[in-house]
Amino acid sequence: MENFLRGKHAALIDMDGVLYDSMKYHTLAWQRMMSELGVECSRDEFYLYEGMTGAATINLLYQRAFGHNCDPEEARRLYSIKSEYFKEYGAREPMPGADMMIAALKEAGLRRVLVTGSAQLSLLDSLSIDYPGAFGEKDRVTGLDVAHGKPDPEPYLKGLEIAGVSASEAIVIENAPLGVRAGKGAGIFTIAITTGPIPREEFEKEGADVIFPSMREAAEVMLKMAKEMRR
Ligand code: CA
Repeated sequence: MENFLRGKHAALIDMDGVLYDSMKYHTLAWQRMMSELGVECSRDEFYLYEGMTGAATINLLYQRAFGHNCDPEEARRLYSIKSEYFKEYGAREPMPGADMMIAALKEAGLRRVLVTGSAQLSLLDSLSIDYPGAFGEKDRVTGLDVAHGKPDPEPYLKGLEIAGVSASEAIVIENAPLGVRAGKGAGIFTIAITTGPIPREEFEKEGADVIFPSMREAAEVMLKMAKEMRR
């Protein structure tokens, strides 16, 4: 595998499913909230909507069930219920191996910028505890900073702006097909890590440049690449 860290100056890193093993709780919270409204939905389908803003996900299900979008104020209320359920399930579990990946990126001299569709403050606030020194205070794009959210390239374009680099000088690290689409749409070399139940083919379809079967494997490869660059 070609050393994809070489010549790169920034890594734009997704949060849920990359830094935290949190998608299993997000999908459960989504299904519970939507089911309570009488909307039929499966837990697994929410893995495919990962990366979209809360409002976009709610509208997608509203369109399917009721044939119209959700009132924006009601959508905000529903998203906060979903956020409460997520908090209730509680566990904040750093993704095994993600700390090694961050260490590799540091060693290779890449600036880290967080790019997440989430506006879930409970996790965002924990980043400095679980990943100390991983991200500068302003080096983050969240669901609160974007109009469109993934799969639109906007969040990753904003990430490039924050890092002050061009698309060819950055990499994207993602676990969701729509996130890969956003990274590729921004013209960035995009690494997919399958940390959930979504099959590899979904990432191939979106044009991921590299696909790893686990965070641990991705981190080990990146650590080797970083060491190779120091030699
Ligand atoms: Ca994600």
